[in-house]
Amino acid sequence: EAKRRGRSTWVIYSDEMGAKISAEAQLVRELGAAVEAGQFTLVYQPIVRLDDQRMTGVEALIRWNHPTRGVVSPVDFIPLAERSGHIVAIGGWALREACRQAAHWRSAFPAAEDLTVNVNVAGPQLRTAGFVDEVAAALRDSGLPASCLSIEVTETAVLDDEESAEAMLRLRGLGIRLALDDFGTAASSLGLLLTVPVTTLKLDRSFVESITTVGRQAAVATAVSQMATALDFSSVAEGIETDEQRVLIQSLGYQYGQGYLFGRPLPPDEVGDRWAEMNTVRTD
Ligand code: C2E
Ligand code: MG
Ligand code: MG
Ligand code: MG
Repeated sequence: EAKRRGRSTWVIYSDEMGAKISAEAQLVRELGAAVEAGQFTLVYQPIVRLDDQRMTGVEALIRWNHPTRGVVSPVDFIPLAERSGHIVAIGGWALREACRQAAHWRSAFPAAEDLTVNVNVAGPQLRTAGFVDEVAAALRDSGLPASCLSIEVTETAVLDDEESAEAMLRLRGLGIRLALDDFGTAASSLGLLLTVPVTTLKLDRSFVESITTVGRQAAVATAVSQMATALDFSSVAEGIETDEQRVLIQSLGYQYGQGYLFGRPLPPDEVGDRWAEMNTVRTD
């Protein structure tokens, strides 16, 4: 009996493993065809200056409109795209599309000429030979000034890696801004801040989530904002959902904020109107 159970357990486990592997392989195949099939879209989340709550930029966030699975979150396919190498084509598409759309908003809303667009770039993409040239081409083809583009990379993506460091230096040379995304979550060393040429720290939303004046999150958030100021970086806090969080984050010295309080990610055709709505001079 024990033997039979053991065996059948093993069989079930093995079937599940096999099913999981083939489902993943299937998803990888579909990912490989999804750019050509036009299944990706970008949505844009406002980034606001906390002082006056004006929208100064947007972060481009990718969505996969899968024909049978519906909208797939980047959390569920970006890691797979990184492992399979498809991230290079997918990320390249996202970069060109974001530049194209940002250039369009600038011409449709001349007062929004300083609006920046943030694009997430994965480690394997950043390390690909030719990535910097691809960025330069995306700017040239779209007509977007380099000063209006910010590239977001995570600490883990650039840790101890010469190719990344070199690509980042060249991006800075083009005049593009560089943000360290999800700052504070990775097991990175602070020494990274001395070697990577970033312009912005984005405090991860886990520190904002349950922030109170007396808690540990506030202590870490304070340290990060002070470090940003001392190093002459700008600081953004992610995941601000409530007015209490906004007030507290601002009191800790953050210059910019992003989160559902200011706005959820928007489809591209709503960005211009939202910008106008948030940036109209109010007299009250
Ligand atoms: P991220 O770059 O840290 O982006 C912020 C994520 O937090 C977004 O999730 C956004 O929708 C979500 N968020 C914003 N405000 C709030 C809030 O107030 N509360 C909560 N709970 N969440 C908030 P999303 O769009 O699902 O993206 C998840 C991650 O996928 C991104 O995290 C980024 O790492 C990755 N990603 C998205 N688009 C791309 C892309 O084009 N390329 C690459 N390589 N990665 C991408
Ligand atoms: Mg990001
Ligand atoms: Mg982030
Ligand atoms: Mg994040």
